[in-house]
Amino acid sequence: MAKPSFERENSAADAALRIIRTIATKPEPLNYAVWYTYCSGESLDLKAELDGYFKSKTPITTDISEAMFAKYIAPVLASMADQATRQKLDEANERLAKTLNSVMDLVASGSQGTESFSKALDKFKGEVQSSVDPKLAGAVAAMITETQKIASLNTELRTKLNSASGEIDALKGDLSAIRKEAYTDGLSGIPNRKAFNKEIDDLTFALKQKSGYLCLFMTDIDKFKSFNDTHGHLVGDQVIKVVANILAKNVRDTDFVARYGGEEFAALFPNTRLKDAIAVAEKVRQAVRGKEIQNRRTGESLGQITISIGVAEYAIGESIDDFISRADSALYLAKQMGRDRVCSQNDLTR
Ligand code: GH3
Ligand code: MG
Ligand code: MG
Repeated sequence: MAKPSFERENSAADAALRIIRTIATKPEPLNYAVWYTYCSGESLDLKAELDGYFKSKTPITTDISEAMFAKYIAPVLASMADQATRQKLDEANERLAKTLNSVMDLVASGSQGTESFSKALDKFKGEVQSSVDPKLAGAVAAMITETQKIASLNTELRTKLNSASGEIDALKGDLSAIRKEAYTDGLSGIPNRKAFNKEIDDLTFALKQKSGYLCLFMTDIDKFKSFNDTHGHLVGDQVIKVVANILAKNVRDTDFVARYGGEEFAALFPNTRLKDAIAVAEKVRQAVRGKEIQNRRTGESLGQITISIGVAEYAIGESIDDFISRADSALYLAKQMGRDRVCSQNDLTR
């Protein structure tokens, strides 16, 4: 039987403290986080890298600890914080809309109520004026005047609320524009890494609820450094846009393409098996190498560029890190095998 999770956490905590004592490093939060992550097995990459230091008998200095933290732990923390903020924003928006709607309903029914009441009184006034009691007629007239004042105040309130609701709608529009900007890559206009992180979170989460498949490819432009060196960074930027366009054009609407970083892109394929994702990758690879790159300013032909691609299929229950790192390893293999090719997890020796 699996140990209850707090027990596991405790033993990872104990083990982390033991290591800190053994290697005589400072018991600081950062060191603790690194060794806790090492002992809990939450990041196999971090573990592998630190084991490498142990094996080569390299002392694990503060610099190394800090680098481990920046590379493996900080991004996870940032993405957690990001998710929490997003959720809070959505909740606030929803609460605001609900409150406003109920106030509007209340005012609408209130002012209609006073309007019909005032109409009924008008009718009554006609009847009373023809009656003999002038005192009663006077009292009714005063009541009617007051009621009409309230009705007009209510109408004014309603107009004001209507315009406030217009402003809130505009604000909501601004918010969603800001959100869209935060998830879009400024250079290529396709989703950025933050958007990718959210998408892969959502898609793998969905696979916990109901069965399905998910594939991923990571791609990287070949020898891009020398392309930049030859033609300049601005032309390089143009190539990044071209590749982003080709990627976006060659996948289905339900697929998801993002700029992962510098000259690297990632694509997610829901409900797709490995062999089909490999076929898409192959199509994208050929589309890129078939595109003649032109200097937009001078019209001069700059030849062709190529990309290498690594494809992986999600194994239900595995961590997102493991999934991405399998695609990355396949990409690395494609580079090693000479670039301008697609490799998949099936090509990796196990
Ligand atoms: P490899 O085939 O192994 O991928 O070789 P490479 O030269 O592409 O790999 P490397 O990682 O050494 O270089 C990547 C280069 O991509 C370095 C950097 O100048 C360039 N690059 C990254 N981001 C951008 C960007 O936004 N614009 C431009 N123009 N270049 C970028
Ligand atoms: Mg690269
Ligand atoms: Mg490259």
